[in-house]
Amino acid sequence: MKPASFKYYAPRSVDEAAALLGDLAADDGRILAGGQSLLPSMAFRMAKPAHLIDINRIATLANIDLEKDIVRIGACVRHAAFESPERVPGPTGVLLGKVVRNLAHPPIRARGTFCGSLANADPSSEWLCAAAALDATIIARSRDGERRISSVDFFQGVMTTDLRDTEMIAAVELPLLPADTRSGFVEFSRRRGDFAIGMVLAAFRIEGDRAVDVRIAVGGVEATPRRISEAEAVLTGSAADEETFIAVAETLADVVDPTQDDQHPVEYRRSLIRTLAYRALKSAT
Ligand SMILES: Cc1cc2nc3c(=O)[nH]c(=O)nc-3n(C[C@H](O)[C@H](O)[C@H](O)COP(=O)(O)OP(=O)(O)OC[C@H]3O[C@@H](n4cnc5c(N)ncnc54)[C@H](O)[C@@H]3O)c2cc1C
Repeated sequence: MKPASFKYYAPRSVDEAAALLGDLAADDGRILAGGQSLLPSMAFRMAKPAHLIDINRIATLANIDLEKDIVRIGACVRHAAFESPERVPGPTGVLLGKVVRNLAHPPIRARGTFCGSLANADPSSEWLCAAAALDATIIARSRDGERRISSVDFFQGVMTTDLRDTEMIAAVELPLLPADTRSGFVEFSRRRGDFAIGMVLAAFRIEGDRAVDVRIAVGGVEATPRRISEAEAVLTGSAADEETFIAVAETLADVVDPTQDDQHPVEYRRSLIRTLAYRALKSAT
């Protein structure tokens, strides 16, 4: 099927895009980034936006900018950018590289964007789990200016965010993790490249012989991705060994509140998360 007709706009600056969105949001105007979620749903006529604001010609949005301890990912940075370890230095780049290998297929990674995934807010998206684990800050832009939103406030439910109709994501900020941070990311999907049924991201450092700066997040099992503080507490201050990893995985499985569907009962997802947590911790290097 072909999409319903729409008006197309190609702004050359963020100011212009934000102004267009301000004018057109009430008449179902939408941002077009990589198009890897929006265009298929338009082709199926599940989405029928009257106006498409294509941000791909705004050169600055393709940038990955580094500051002292932050990396800022522009709205048109493709998933594939994170396959190149040099784009984001240090452990944050290593972590994003581990995550992106699991995301979809090469053609989709070549077009789809990091920020578009966050805007789309599919709980099975790998970037949502990474954003939660790293306490991302979402930079929203409207014609009225900029609003900074923490990932905790941003993800509000399945495909639901705190972003207003008149706001676009201009960029997302992530912390540059300390040099000795270890990370592991493991997901399970039926076929390689499919959306995941569950995923766990773990990151921590070792000080002396104890784990510190622990971040453990789950995605794909609840309506929104989140850090699991109870599991982080089990690892924090403990030896990063087999016994602790099993205890962390047990805690994680107890604490998550999985959504249920016909194919994946709650107990199945709980058991899956236990296994994924153990493997994510064990693989953390
Ligand atoms: C076959 C297939 C398999 C896939 N598998 C996976 C997978 O395993 N994991 C995964 O994470 N994703 C997967 N995807 C989705 C893909 O990653 C998309 O690229 C991503 O979800 C959306 O990013 P996009 O840039 O393509 O956004 P678009 O499709 O352009 O937009 C998606 C939505 O977000 C809005 N939006 C986009 N950018 C912005 C912005 N800057 N500001 C405000 N709103 C914005 C749009 O208006 C639209 O509503 C898959 C897609 C396909 C077709």
